[in-house]
Amino acid sequence: MKTTNTSNSSGIGFIGLLTILFITLKLTNVISWTWVWVLSPLWISTVVSIIIIGLVIFWVEEQMKTSDINKMSDKNKTEACYNCGTIIYTEFNDFKVIEGTIYCKECALKRR
Ligand SMILES: [Zn+2]
Repeated sequence: MKTTNTSNSSGIGFIGLLTILFITLKLTNVISWTWVWVLSPLWISTVVSIIIIGLVIFWVEEQMKTSDINKMSDKNKTEACYNCGTIIYTEFNDFKVIEGTIYCKECALKRR
């Protein structure tokens, strides 16, 4: 007797048991369903898991888009020149850092 199987106590699960039940009922002529519906627990659970996986992938992609936008806004950070207050777009690299303070190019040149 195996006692370590904790994730699935029945071994086949609810879907498997339902399918076996339907097949048994079909073969004993208790139900007159077509085989599509007799086997429906199998494909319905497959379709449901595909939909769930699709939704998860969609959600992950949305999250990645959002983090990309966050990265972009980090890149587009602006600073102000310590001397004249001119807005410096750090992505264009039009600034100089002198003794830990940010200056625009013009002010940096004047300081030299
Ligand atoms: Zn300046």
